[in-house]
Amino acid sequence: MQYFLPDSQDLVDPSFDFTKENRCADRLRHRDDQYAHEVFSTRAFDGILVSKAIVDGTGGAGQARYTQAQRRRLLREGVRAFFRAEEHRWGPLTFMGDCGAFSYVKADAPPYTVDEVVEFYDRCGFDCGISVDHVILEHRPEWEDDLFAGDERGVPAAVRGRQQLTLELAREFFTTIKRDRLRVMPVGVAQGWGPRSYAHAARELQEIGYRYIALGGVVPLKTPDLLRCLEAVHAIRRPETRIHLLGVTRIAAVSAFAKFGVVSFDSTSPLRQAFKDDKDNYYTLDRTYSAIRVPQVQGNFRLEARVRSGEVDQDLARAAEQRCLQRLAEYDAGARAIKSVLEALRAYELIHDPRTDRTEIYREALEAKPWKTCPCEVCKQLGHHVILFRGAERNRRRGFHNVWTFYQRLRRGLAATAVLATPACASPAR
Ligand SMILES: [Zn+2]
Repeated sequence: MQYFLPDSQDLVDPSFDFTKENRCADRLRHRDDQYAHEVFSTRAFDGILVSKAIVDGTGGAGQARYTQAQRRRLLREGVRAFFRAEEHRWGPLTFMGDCGAFSYVKADAPPYTVDEVVEFYDRCGFDCGISVDHVILEHRPEWEDDLFAGDERGVPAAVRGRQQLTLELAREFFTTIKRDRLRVMPVGVAQGWGPRSYAHAARELQEIGYRYIALGGVVPLKTPDLLRCLEAVHAIRRPETRIHLLGVTRIAAVSAFAKFGVVSFDSTSPLRQAFKDDKDNYYTLDRTYSAIRVPQVQGNFRLEARVRSGEVDQDLARAAEQRCLQRLAEYDAGARAIKSVLEALRAYELIHDPRTDRTEIYREALEAKPWKTCPCEVCKQLGHHVILFRGAERNRRRGFHNVWTFYQRLRRGLAATAVLATPACASPAR
């Protein structure tokens, strides 16, 4: 089972000084920064999923991750050179291209033509490329009873239309790649609204010639619903057809996924949870911990607004912030009791986020000191800074640590069921 990390140009600056909180003055973004695969000496994922929507910056707010110059360089040098992943120390990394269908889920049709997408995949040199698709958000298996009884009235035309359009685009995509004898392996997307409609889409894709099929629109599905869809697809699946799950992270279900022919999946959750989740920010092999919030007074939007309105005294806030940092460092060095660290954190919390009292979840994290036992490069280098919810350099590194830990969890889960890694993109036909 292969794990793909979706790219959104998450890099860290190795020159960042966590004590002084400054960086090297002549650091150049991207050139001097490091990707997760440049930080860890041992593997943290099998491949990278690069979405056209992210590269083009067409995904709306927060999606413009590439500068014009970077976009041009990606197309010119190819994905492997751009990500500095040629002859990587982990062994090969697989690159999968994608359209980023969730970014245009509200539009009537995908904003790209098949030719544009094929050209993007070919110029970048992806190993596999996902066909142009249009996500169906509804999961309504009850609609299928009518449809398969020959009555299509129960299924909204727009929903059926999206499946039909996705299949038509998949046919054009497959034909174009074969006609032009391109190197990229085509991956066809199945969209559905229940087990039978997913199976219908997968059967059509196999008829077209696809032997690698991605299930789309499954992100919001509960695990039992997803398993029912996979089971239905499995029932019509040819032995050589392999399945990719788009945007799914369910460690507990990996062995069931494997049984139904799933060979790969992608998910950004381990990285994003480090700084988006309310409390599950730091992964260990067995559980998660909350990160400890010590926001910078300067640069914190909410706090600065309250300083300006006179609600918060800036000097007092700064002093409370510094007291937290100092006591945390002393606690990490074994020179301070947990009680006074928690008191300092609570005193600062009353200034930066008075609505929540996180003392107890902080106590759990501080008592366990999980960063002390984690063998990953981030924890070894950062020490307790890894668990501080404070600025992109710490938060992103904690995300990297989560990705690395997630991969260890995945390997452990797979080893327990003896499902070994199979190279998803190494086609028997190639
Ligand atoms: Zn770690």
